[in-house]
Amino acid sequence: MAWDFDYLIVGAGFSGLTMAERLATQMGATCLVVERRGHIGGNAYDRYDDHGVLIHAYGPHYFRTNSPRIREYLSQFTDWHPVDYKILSWTHGAYWPFPINLNTFEQLIGKPSTPEEMVATLDQWKVRIEAPTNSEDLILSQVGRRLYEQFFEGYTLKQWHRHPRELDASVCGRIPIRTNRDDRYLTEDFQALPTAGYTRLFERMLAACGNRAKILLHTDYREVMPHVNFHHMIYTGPVDEYFDHCEGRLPYRSLRFESESFTAGQLTSRASISRKKGFWQPAMQVNFPNDHAYTRIVEIKHATGQLCENSTIVREYPEDFGPGKEAYYPIPAADAATLYARYKARADAEKTTSFIGRLATYKYYNMDQIVGMALAEFEKIRRATSP
Ligand code: FAD
Ligand code: UDP
Repeated sequence: MAWDFDYLIVGAGFSGLTMAERLATQMGATCLVVERRGHIGGNAYDRYDDHGVLIHAYGPHYFRTNSPRIREYLSQFTDWHPVDYKILSWTHGAYWPFPINLNTFEQLIGKPSTPEEMVATLDQWKVRIEAPTNSEDLILSQVGRRLYEQFFEGYTLKQWHRHPRELDASVCGRIPIRTNRDDRYLTEDFQALPTAGYTRLFERMLAACGNRAKILLHTDYREVMPHVNFHHMIYTGPVDEYFDHCEGRLPYRSLRFESESFTAGQLTSRASISRKKGFWQPAMQVNFPNDHAYTRIVEIKHATGQLCENSTIVREYPEDFGPGKEAYYPIPAADAATLYARYKARADAEKTTSFIGRLATYKYYNMDQIVGMALAEFEKIRRATSP
């Protein structure tokens, strides 16, 4: 016996669930959402660990957006806990304010300074590069070699296993450089976390669908394909996998997360380092550009504002992608873009499948951009199907 659904949605991350919610509530369509992991939410999934600490299971997810439309859409399913995301960089035996700002500059030169002095000094340090196209040239053209080597080169090599010279300028271009004292990691107007967590938000999106959406966890969509009749597929998995890697394998970067939890008593003995009672480190995120095999340690309790006497830190180790590994990052580089263009041509020719999300469009998008992409795809489908 076969199941009948209007839409088969592959993946229950931000892109898949936004599509399910819109299709079910705005068009009355029926959707089967198939997810191969054991939970909803994709990489934005969060959960309470054994110590009662709310953690982001797949690395820190700092929600931010400049789009009132995307914020309003998600606000139907969550309240927000405003956060000024602040991080530090550990290098040369000390914590440094990061991204680079006037406080970083003062620490570097060892005396108080002004924005004017910082601008003038960076102007001397900058390497003159017209229209930088790769990440090394971009940072050299903004702050010069010393700061590039101190904060960017080692981290980028570790994270991507490629030299910054071989990565698009957009990679390191994500990090602002400031000459004032604004030390927030991000620049967007709206910066906040879902008050009750991402997973609760996703549960509410699914609940809004009522009985029009059915979800299957622990299931690869290929297993159910023979048993489902549907009109249209929304595919949010890796695009090369959809096409059986017929053009070759796209490169991805993977990660390994290693968590460690601490009780209130253990945290007390860290007080001089964490500078704040109940925490292990002095900031939500500490980056390690030049020390250790991990790139960063995240103690998300700083950002969630959770009242919990225990705390958990997560060390993030970049890894090569391969069998049994998750494809976390598409690689923003020219060779990958050339290969992806071949898959995109194939995807464009598939009229009964929509390819959306970070993996299906092979682009290093943030969560808000993914929601924006799904909302746009929904409108396209609605226009195409309205009489
Ligand atoms: P995903 O969340 O990857 O969901 C796709 C889902 O499809 C997955 O759950 C997968 O299991 C499922 N799937 C794939 N193939 C199949 C199949 N064959 N059958 C069934 N299911 C399948 N964004 C921000 O805005 N701020 C941040 O701070 C931030 N930090 C990040 C940190 C890390 C470490 C990573 C990896 C990403 C980060 N992001 C951040 C990006 C954010 O995770 C993505 O933008 C967003 O989650 C993408 O949603 P998606 O639905 O496209 O993909
Ligand atoms: N980066 C760096 N040093 C840092 C932080 C970031 O060189 O201390 C570079 C690195 O290449 C990284 C990119 O900037 O991949 C984007 O950083 P972001 O923190 O936005 O990465 P994400 O959270 O997406 O992993």
